[in-house]
Amino acid sequence: MPDISEELRIPKPCPSCGSQRVRVSQVHNPDDKVFCVSCGTYVCLYADVAKMREEGAGSEAEELLEQAANRGMKK
Ligand SMILES: [Zn+2]
Repeated sequence: MPDISEELRIPKPCPSCGSQRVRVSQVHNPDDKVFCVSCGTYVCLYADVAKMREEGAGSEAEELLEQAANRGMKK
């Protein structure tokens, strides 16, 4: 069976070593367990990772909108 996992950086640190890099399955099943890349400790479920990443992306998009709005006002 091929290795179909990928590494991600998440806001939540590993409870054991504090690393924010985790290994997830590329299947992205919400019930998949996510493990720390450094020490292999179980960190959370993929559903939690997906939520964290969505929240991060959301605030980034808001920032871009704000920048665009500021630029528009300076015109
Ligand atoms: Zn760890």
